[in-house]
Amino acid sequence: MNSLDFAEQFDFFPYRRLRGRGVSPHFSMRVDGIDFHIDSSKGEGYNLITHAHSDHYGQKNVCNSCAVASRETATILKASTGKGFSGMTFNIGESLNLGTRVKTYPTGHIHGSSAFYFKDGVLVTGDVKDYRGLPMCHVLITEATYGSPEYVFEDEIDRLVEEATNATFGVYPIGKAQRVAEILKNAGYDVAADGKISKICECLGIELCKGGETTLAPPWEVAMASGKRYILTAQKFYNLPRIVISDHLDYEGIIRMVEHCNPEQVVFYHGNPSEHLIKELEAIGYGVTLLHELEKVRIGRRD
Ligand SMILES: [Zn+2]
Ligand SMILES: [Zn+2]
Repeated sequence: MNSLDFAEQFDFFPYRRLRGRGVSPHFSMRVDGIDFHIDSSKGEGYNLITHAHSDHYGQKNVCNSCAVASRETATILKASTGKGFSGMTFNIGESLNLGTRVKTYPTGHIHGSSAFYFKDGVLVTGDVKDYRGLPMCHVLITEATYGSPEYVFEDEIDRLVEEATNATFGVYPIGKAQRVAEILKNAGYDVAADGKISKICECLGIELCKGGETTLAPPWEVAMASGKRYILTAQKFYNLPRIVISDHLDYEGIIRMVEHCNPEQVVFYHGNPSEHLIKELEAIGYGVTLLHELEKVRIGRRD
């Protein structure tokens, strides 16, 4: 199927907003005559925020009354910007009436990460760690952060727990830090952190200790720590030793997610889908569309 045909067949119109000489972040789509802007700058209609990572534009939408995010996402945005979220919030799993029916699903990426399912079978996932709760769909609009075959990894949770005594772990402060804090607390460790990490833990009800035996810090501060030091990541560009803990699916995981949702068409709107991934999905029988192949439309801006 040609990428221009699939939108018509599924009765929705995905597009990119032209803005000045460029385009707005990620993409937009029109469903039942209503515009939805996905992880993007403010626009007419609704802004859907899949989760609180800054490259998904929640921070730019905290003051937008037409922004939509899960309660936990709104809580994290408040802790990281200092501003209350003035949009609509929901509990993940709820159905929303946004002029058309939209059901929400967890993606296990970070606290509050949510997928949005539109009634005619269009699913927008945001970033995904655990696809098992996602529904089947006709069009899967998703990410490929680790979309190259060299990314094969499994989380080293056992190693994380074994190495935790008197260790400093470098973690991304939004999301990864909170997931790791919960894993370590469940394993019986006292966990310490300060700054943004502790602020976000606090607002999510994750209790930390002063001077705990395990310290969480942003990756760029770990080099200054004494004792055992690790970066918790699937990325390979750090100098310090790493323990693999990722908030994303690996290459095979992306393919298994597509098979699980079993769409006719996959649209990658975030991350780096490799030629290899596209070929592999097409060989199994899925249509694949990339962000730059979507139609570009110039419409008015509110902000
Ligand atoms: Zn993310
Ligand atoms: Zn992302």
